[in-house]
Amino acid sequence: MRFVFLGAPGVGKGTQAEMVSVKYGIPKISTGDLLRAAVTQHTPLGKEVKQFMDRGDLVPDNVVIGLVEEKISIPEYAKGFILDGFPRTVPQADTLGTLLTTKELSLDRVVHFVIPREEVINRLSGRRSCSQCPAVYHVEFVPPKRDGVCDECGGELVQRRDDQKETVESRLTVYEEQTSPLIDYYRKNNVLAELNGSGSVDDVQERLVALLSAS
Ligand code: AMP
Repeated sequence: MRFVFLGAPGVGKGTQAEMVSVKYGIPKISTGDLLRAAVTQHTPLGKEVKQFMDRGDLVPDNVVIGLVEEKISIPEYAKGFILDGFPRTVPQADTLGTLLTTKELSLDRVVHFVIPREEVINRLSGRRSCSQCPAVYHVEFVPPKRDGVCDECGGELVQRRDDQKETVESRLTVYEEQTSPLIDYYRKNNVLAELNGSGSVDDVQERLVALLSAS
């Protein structure tokens, strides 16, 4: 089971990837989470990528490709994985293809999450992330039990710097220009499936599981 979750920032890929990972018992690789962890831990990688992320720009291809390559070579990932937020450019997709081919593997499904632009902006501006663990909330749609406190670990909930209004628009532009060409790219490879990402987390999960089960 090797899946890619593709879509604009805020479509819910990360939340769904986490749930599918638990349900199917396969790990997810979220390049955004890996990069954010590096920034929080002030590693050399974190220092290198922070500026790009704060501006809402993509991190250079070679950096993210290195991260993914390292992960999928670990035995734990041999039975499958979900890629969340990777690839995001055509060169990243090409490299992923080559990496998998050399291991005699391929992708089973690339799921394109589709929601209207206004809903994306709404979701991103209300999103709150735990400062200590990967849990994600929404002030209106998925509120924590206690205001500002993570249900999972008690960590403080914060708004990601790149979820602030000024940066959201530029992330959407970056998505349109650099990532959306991957929709046609994977359609031509016959692995693309469109998923309606609107509605509650549970509704989307149900549609997604039905789609993946048919893959
Ligand atoms: P995400 O959590 O997936 O929205 O990613 C947050 C940020 O991390 C993005 O805005 C980029 O700056 C960076 N990033 C994550 N994945 C990639 C990728 N595949 N290629 C380039 N930059 C990435």
